Amino acid sequence: MKPGTLLGHEGIGVVEAPGGQVRNFDIGGRVMVCSTVSCGVCSCCRAGDTAQCDSANPNGPSAGTSFFGGPETTEPMNGPQAQRAGIPFASNTLVRLPEQSATTRRSCSATP
Ligand SMILES: [Zn+2]
Repeated sequence: MKPGTLLGHEGIGVVEAPGGQVRNFDIGGRVMVCSTVSCGVCSCCRAGDTAQCDSANPNGPSAGTSFFGGPETTEPMNGPQAQRAGIPFASNTLVRLPEQSATTRRSCSATP
């Protein structure tokens, strides 16, 4: 792990600022952040193997699974143990939670 990387693989929070291409989450919606980042549209994602997403790892499709708080081979990508977290490929990386679910107050900036 690269020093300075924020910890955490999964998280829960509230959508604060969805990116322009994020259409399936609204401001104020409660969400869970999946540990692995996935685009939802590549052949691996469409086959249900989102951990092998061809688009999520900034080091290319052969660099392996891209996950929050992961090793340097994932760039590294900061984990969500923070007051705010930017979530890449938010349309596929976030999961909607029921409104009445208990969450701690954290915010997510959902990016495309
Ligand atoms: Zn993908």
